[in-house]
Amino acid sequence: MENGVMIQYFEWNLPDDGKHWKRLKDDATHLSEVGVSAVWIPPAYKGTSSMDVGYGAYDLWDLGEFEQKGTIRTKYGTKQELTEAIEELHKYGINVYLDVVLNHKAGADETEKFQAVEVDSSDRTKVISEPYEIEGWTKFTFPGRNNRYSDFKWNYNFFTGVDFNNRNGKNAIYKILGENKDWDKGVDTEMGNYDYLMNADVNYAHPEVKKEVINWGKWVINELKLDGFRMDAVKHISEEFVKDFLGEIRSVYGEEFYSVGEYWKDNLEILKEYLESLDYKTDLFDVGLHFNFHEASVKGKSFDLRTILDNTILISDSMQAVSFVDNHDSQKGSALESQIESWFKPHAYAIILLSEKGYPCLFYGDYYGVGGNESEHKWIIDQLLYVRKNYAYGTQFNYFDFPNIIAFYRTGRENDRNSGCVAVLSNDVSGEKIIEVGKNRTGQIWKEITGSGFENIIVDENGFAIFGVQAGKISVWIPEGE
Ligand code: CA
Repeated sequence: MENGVMIQYFEWNLPDDGKHWKRLKDDATHLSEVGVSAVWIPPAYKGTSSMDVGYGAYDLWDLGEFEQKGTIRTKYGTKQELTEAIEELHKYGINVYLDVVLNHKAGADETEKFQAVEVDSSDRTKVISEPYEIEGWTKFTFPGRNNRYSDFKWNYNFFTGVDFNNRNGKNAIYKILGENKDWDKGVDTEMGNYDYLMNADVNYAHPEVKKEVINWGKWVINELKLDGFRMDAVKHISEEFVKDFLGEIRSVYGEEFYSVGEYWKDNLEILKEYLESLDYKTDLFDVGLHFNFHEASVKGKSFDLRTILDNTILISDSMQAVSFVDNHDSQKGSALESQIESWFKPHAYAIILLSEKGYPCLFYGDYYGVGGNESEHKWIIDQLLYVRKNYAYGTQFNYFDFPNIIAFYRTGRENDRNSGCVAVLSNDVSGEKIIEVGKNRTGQIWKEITGSGFENIIVDENGFAIFGVQAGKISVWIPEGE
């Protein structure tokens, strides 16, 4: 979809009130009006408790339907409420992507005893103990679901590792031993082998596990009428499995079934290799762009804005780039904290929402706020969404010619003088850019829409105009309607 926008419709600190699916449903009209074309919903299956954000995935088949872990609903509501929210979004043509947590399982029903070795936590290929018996939380029987949808029960054979020995309470990274068992291959090589992340790590070398998870994938798409997946923590999952999983799903639901992977690594070469090994059958979040934003926001005027797009998927593989500013992991207090400083959020959103390249993802926390506090950025994001929807079309010309002020111009739709836009970003002084918008615009009036206080400007007889920006701010200019 032209100028599509994804919204990540949750943040870490949402209340545990079971009303989120209801809020999402009630918000469908508004989302559609501002130009949102897809919603990334949080992990919608039963976690370790009703408070679980969803990444402590207990039972993928329980979408808020069974009394398990002390609750029928998830943090966000019941399966029925989720279904209603999705139906409502679909009425407006908004796609729905489910957050899919396949790396690990949490909150096992029972412990089991099995042989394991301890490995070096900073190099998981290094065994640092003799094999011995430990007691781990690896048995999942899902008594509350009672075999509905699937009768698969998990035991230690289906996991590669755990981090807790219940026998003596010791935390360590334990590699589970057994026939043909090892860490999954085709994972990130940080920590030697980064298969293990947390909880009970799923063993994708096991054919029964592959079958069960692929069955679940096919089931959940049909059950919820999903349009895509956001694949959690793919750097910790066998890339061969991810490829097979998406392939199997698309053999049923078609190539257009959407996928974006979270490969949390500020290393473009590794992200490029991952795209290649997945045959470009998935998008990736542009983690490099996020870290550029973070660095720019922390360094202030000493950051050279001309480098803001360096080493990003947006430049190297723009068709696969999902550009974002912050998310539930990077927000303050979260696992991968690297939140963009407030003053720079408008800059970052101007880049992702007004650029020709990339599929932008708007973060709930930036738009609606965090922990129930209203976001100070909603107004400016609304302005940018308006410009994206109505003006940000056509070829992009970058004016990245000064370290502290950069600008870019979108030429607009063909034969439509009333579209097109200019964005100017400053991280220091106020200033201006002389930009060529074309002789066909001579005499046209342009206005600034972020409330920066600039007077309207007129394009001169040579097709140039002067676009100002205030110190440390952004300005966004559009042609005044004719
Ligand atoms: Ca893993």
